[in-house]
Amino acid sequence: MINQLAGNYWHQRVQELHIDGRALINGERKDASNGATFASCSPIDGSHLADIASCTAQDVDEAVAGARKAFNDGSWSRIGAAARKEVLLRLADLMEVHSEQLALLDSLDMGKPIAQSTTVDAPGSVETFRWYAELVDKIVDEVPATGPGATAMVTREPLGVVAVITPWNYPLEIAAWKLAPALAAGNSVVIKPAAQSTMSALLLGELAMQAGIPAGVLNVVPGSGRVVGEGLALHMDVDALAFTGSTAVAKRLLECSGQSNMKRLGLEAGGKSANLVFDDVEDLEMAAAKAAFGAFYNQGEVCSANSRVLVQRGVYERFLEAFARHSADYVPGDPLDPKNQGAGALVSREHADDVARAIEEARGQGRIVSGGRRLSINGSDAYIEPTIVADLPAGHPLHSTEIFGPVATVSVFDTEEEAIALANNTEYGLAASLWTSNLSRAHRVASRLVAGTVSVNTVDALGLTTPFGGFKQSGFGRDLSAHALDNYVGLKTTWFQHG
Ligand code: NAP
Repeated sequence: MINQLAGNYWHQRVQELHIDGRALINGERKDASNGATFASCSPIDGSHLADIASCTAQDVDEAVAGARKAFNDGSWSRIGAAARKEVLLRLADLMEVHSEQLALLDSLDMGKPIAQSTTVDAPGSVETFRWYAELVDKIVDEVPATGPGATAMVTREPLGVVAVITPWNYPLEIAAWKLAPALAAGNSVVIKPAAQSTMSALLLGELAMQAGIPAGVLNVVPGSGRVVGEGLALHMDVDALAFTGSTAVAKRLLECSGQSNMKRLGLEAGGKSANLVFDDVEDLEMAAAKAAFGAFYNQGEVCSANSRVLVQRGVYERFLEAFARHSADYVPGDPLDPKNQGAGALVSREHADDVARAIEEARGQGRIVSGGRRLSINGSDAYIEPTIVADLPAGHPLHSTEIFGPVATVSVFDTEEEAIALANNTEYGLAASLWTSNLSRAHRVASRLVAGTVSVNTVDALGLTTPFGGFKQSGFGRDLSAHALDNYVGLKTTWFQHG
């Protein structure tokens, strides 16, 4: 029996890894057309993991052409939903067999604790594939009323070639959120993973081939956002693009769509989510523990992180004390230590530099209630303590700028109106949480918070069956749930005149 909890188990697994950094284009593993590579290095200890193909515009063209050919030949798009289901279930089974490796690749690439990638990211991704595989042959299309002498069918048609561009914070899971519904609907896909986290997507592509997904239906094209990402966004033969990442890049993708073929876009962008704690909260200790989870899980590198905590005056100091205590659960440690359930490294030294700078800028203007220091672990300084900054002046950039690291601000409010105004005072609208024991207040406040998900008496609620996405500059389109399929199909009316 293998003991995954032995302290050195995962460090040993790293020694056994053989990473193939070549792209997957049209069913073949390939170097970039010009042979270029970029180094994939782990923020955990700075070690070099692999050389990854740095794909070119020519590689993008080849992948899109392969995807188009596969779409047109019908080997996936026209085999029927039940047949696609069988293949996607096989893929999910293969992912489960390789889940340790998938989890390890994500932890190595972006620094999250292996205890989380093995129990959350990898199994969640497997379940996502199973869920859409099972959904897709149970969807019923429509025969609406048309009057006598005619019958009309409204069917969901796959769009064709779908490009997927993913971020580095949940490399496998966010890829699964998009690939599973896009493939289940019958599309061909070209995915460009974030350069900082390519390895699990490359293994996923390999497993898809083994599962029986035909050549060209799933292409994995690593490279830079400027070359591969924009190459896909400007491509005249890409029908739709599903993106998760920053608001700045999402805006650029809107321009690219307009400059090219008006490809359909699904954009999941940034966030600066508020967590409102009212003084009638039933369990303040629980609210503080969950607030720490909401702000610091995944090193705070979560688009829907509850990084702005707003607390009613009556419980303000008590909450701050409990929040600081619970933040200690997220002090970073070695991500490959299986007992580390808290936090790991930030995605890179450079990102840690940015987060540390944001903390320094806030120091002196607010109260650092806990954390605030950079740590060195495994010889890498990509680690930052969970940091709580209270009482910053209104208008301080930390209230409005997405830091994407383990930093939370805490501010006081007096009235419900004030809390709602503060919560909505952001360009984003991804998520919000609120804590109260008053049912009427819960409904009243939830209905006025401008956010794609409002969590009541919990934080950052998320499930396969509920849509996830934002309002305002957090983007549009929804991942997860049956609604995500809408991103990858077009409605077609076929009208039969017979009288
Ligand atoms: P990012 O810089 O926007 O990058 C996201 C992806 O876009 C990467 O694959 C990146 O490629 C690519 N890209 C960069 N420039 C591009 C361009 N000009 N054209 C096309 N593609 C381009 O975001 P990130 O730093 O990876 O992730 C953090 C951001 O993602 C945060 O803002 C976070 O809130 C957001 N996020 C949102 C959600 C959500 O569901 N709403 C979930 C997770 C993360 P390279 O990195 O390879 O250059």
